[in-house]
Amino acid sequence: MHLMQRGGLDATEEPGAPLSQSAYALKDATGELSNLVFTRPDLVDATGLTSGRAIRVWIDAAATNSPPALSPSNRFKTTVFALCYEAVVVRSLLVDYKPVNGQPHAFSSVTMLVSSCGSGPVVDLATLQAAYFDPNPVMTRGPLSGAGQSLTTFFTNCSFGGVSATFVPANNIIVPVEVPCSGNTTSGAELRPAASFCEMRDQFAWMEHADSVALATYGAAALARYTNRIYILPAGSCGSFAYATQGCNPGWCFSTTVGRLDWSSFGALPHELGHTMGLAHSATPTDEYGDGSTPMGNPWAGPRCYNAPQQWQLGWSRPLQDITATTLAPGSWLTVQLPGLVLQSASFVRVTPTWNAGATTPTYFISYRPAVGHDSGLGDSGLANMVHIHTYNWSAVPAAVDWRPMWLGKLGAVGAIWSDPCYTTSAESGADCFDGLDNDCNGLTDSQDPNCKYVHV
Ligand SMILES: [Zn+2]
Repeated sequence: MHLMQRGGLDATEEPGAPLSQSAYALKDATGELSNLVFTRPDLVDATGLTSGRAIRVWIDAAATNSPPALSPSNRFKTTVFALCYEAVVVRSLLVDYKPVNGQPHAFSSVTMLVSSCGSGPVVDLATLQAAYFDPNPVMTRGPLSGAGQSLTTFFTNCSFGGVSATFVPANNIIVPVEVPCSGNTTSGAELRPAASFCEMRDQFAWMEHADSVALATYGAAALARYTNRIYILPAGSCGSFAYATQGCNPGWCFSTTVGRLDWSSFGALPHELGHTMGLAHSATPTDEYGDGSTPMGNPWAGPRCYNAPQQWQLGWSRPLQDITATTLAPGSWLTVQLPGLVLQSASFVRVTPTWNAGATTPTYFISYRPAVGHDSGLGDSGLANMVHIHTYNWSAVPAAVDWRPMWLGKLGAVGAIWSDPCYTTSAESGADCFDGLDNDCNGLTDSQDPNCKYVHV
């Protein structure tokens, strides 16, 4: 018999840290948070551990009375020691954030600019408003320096107007909130000063208090029209990190940044907002955050739009050309002129390899990324003015929250050639099922891959 616990997952992300170093928390149906520790991390596929997922974990009974070496930091009142986990589809809770009829979702938000007992806020209101809404802000330092890099220019340039019409102050309000030095939230969580405390339960208590302030100020009916909650929490004793739910529906949709929010860390917002819009991380074959061509890979670099598959997932960009066995015969060549991804919404080539009849193969997205507009920061990472090649498993996985891009290469020189080095027909099995890679290139990694279903327990 297995012990099992079910809840929502929250995972923190720290700048530059691998996902395996994230801290995990499990939120049960009553809202209580428990520290979540995987006692056999080799059995855990970290690519599936994104915030907002409903999961169930199998509890490691042997670790319940754990030796001190296994005890986590005392972040919560309780700790769940888990052997492994499984994502749970909860249709009433986890709603895929897909474009409707090809149209992007509108974006609206309430931002809580939080201070706690003399700590924070980390930016003043006028600076934050400029970072959100100024169509031509003059930033003086960091990767957002220069003209035209704000959330409104991000949405305007990258969504080609799909979101920008709704990203206006009337639909995106900022609420300064001062959390008292002591007391309790409505649910009984203790409010402790950020100067001394910054455990996850402190952050959630500040967020709950901020919600109650917004509720008292605006009323439930007025707040219900905003799709997103954004919390900007104070530095105090906190480091700098961020987290968000993946996907968005009422009552379970937020993104949070903790600690400094200067222009060098502002890129965390497009990353975390990307999560709330349903985007997963964008990887390379060896790094969960390895794709530097999108904020969903590297949020801490200069301005850039999302990559071609994610732009398509949001309904912001569309294929210039779709290629299948029907439109490209084996042994023949096709010449395509790619406009820049940020220059027009129909911009990339999508290759669906229907030549490989009967097999489930990923789709290829090929895009050109000149360093102009909101892609002007790509040059910082050596990725500007090149053709980028991604695979994307959208055609193999039904749920958008599991759609994962993989950056495979770039072409910068005239006449350069790229071919997929791992194209194979042998099925993923054995140790390949635990290495975080899509070894057989069917678009499914480890536990996602039916070829591994007898290995993952
Ligand atoms: Zn993330």
